[in-house]
Amino acid sequence: MRITIDGSKCVGAGNCEADMHDVFEVQDVGPTKVVGQPPEDRRRQLEFVIGNCPARAIGIDE
Ligand code: SF4
Repeated sequence: MRITIDGSKCVGAGNCEADMHDVFEVQDVGPTKVVGQPPEDRRRQLEFVIGNCPARAIGIDE
């Protein structure tokens, strides 16, 4: 799996970084970046993070 962020939707709320700081990094300017791709065994945690994004900006490319 590969994590994606839709930069046109991300509002920089930072929930994702708070939940998975090794995967998401909020930027001073512009949308949050994906800085790491977690292994498959963290999928449940990732699904929680996806549900916790107020902008529904996070996706998974299978
Ligand atoms: S939780 Fe969603 S809106 Fe907030 S920084 Fe992460 S991707 Fe962007």
